[in-house]
Amino acid sequence: MALILDGKAAASAAKVDLKTRIAAMTQVPQVAVVQVAGDPAADRYVKAIGRTCGDVGAGYALHHLPADVDQTTLEALVRQLSVDAGVQGIIIQMPLPAHLNSAAVIACLAPHKDIDGVHPYNAGVLANGGSGLVPATPAGGMAILRHYGVEVRGKRAVVIGRSAVVGRPMAWLLLQADATVTIAHSRTVDLAAVVRAADIVVAAIGRPRMITADMIKSGAVVVDFGINVDDTGTLCGDVDYAGVVEVAGAITPVPGGTGPMTNVQLMENLLLAASR
Ligand code: NDP
Repeated sequence: MALILDGKAAASAAKVDLKTRIAAMTQVPQVAVVQVAGDPAADRYVKAIGRTCGDVGAGYALHHLPADVDQTTLEALVRQLSVDAGVQGIIIQMPLPAHLNSAAVIACLAPHKDIDGVHPYNAGVLANGGSGLVPATPAGGMAILRHYGVEVRGKRAVVIGRSAVVGRPMAWLLLQADATVTIAHSRTVDLAAVVRAADIVVAAIGRPRMITADMIKSGAVVVDFGINVDDTGTLCGDVDYAGVVEVAGAITPVPGGTGPMTNVQLMENLLLAASR
């Protein structure tokens, strides 16, 4: 039976530490969230960010725009927040409605306030082996591994998924931690064999319970970023938890694994942004 990598416990410990550090700051760091209406899931994420800010003592302001907001108005808001000395961290809640150009909006964001790590400058720094404002979800995954003392150096890691916000930056972070990294995706041939060779398996796919026990090497560490709702309406990860927990050496559950760490890492990024 695998060790359960409990993200809630890791997040609680990290929040206590963040709260102490923020209380010692001369100026309370402020987060501005820009949300365009229309995505019910985003409402939950945005609320959770607000709660986390409250938990650690950071300031929080939500800029909620109507679903039909135009590109010029949205870009003007992001530019204005980028030069507002009272704002240290900016999050643009994704996805934006189809009529908006996300890349152009992100380009208006000051890279040093980009606490979600979505600006091409910050992505480039990470890809070049640097550190800084790293996307919060993969940073949270690495923080869980550190919290539980999982050795990464020299291990064979497979990341399934290559999105700019989860899979790809997770692969860079594992590489920085001296793992030997393979990135798998929808065109990977014989995914099961690729995954079975790994000591560390990271799932960032968005497909309910796709990674099954027969694909996992005995004792492997499994990090599941998936947040899915199955046909019965049950929340589940990309990993078939019930089966894989019997084979793996350690595993993050869904819910309660990587999810709780994401907002904690946003706060870590906020403190980094505020210190700059
Ligand atoms: P994307 O849809 O952007 O990317 C999914 C990736 O999975 C793609 O690279 C895709 O490959 C790959 N993929 C899809 N199907 C297969 C397949 N059959 N075999 C192998 N690879 C496949 O998703 P995200 O990266 O944004 O999100 C991934 C998951 O993480 C989702 O469940 C999402 O809800 C969750 N998530 C969790 C967060 C958290 O806080 N824990 C935060 C953000 C997301 P290709 O590139 O070839 O299309």
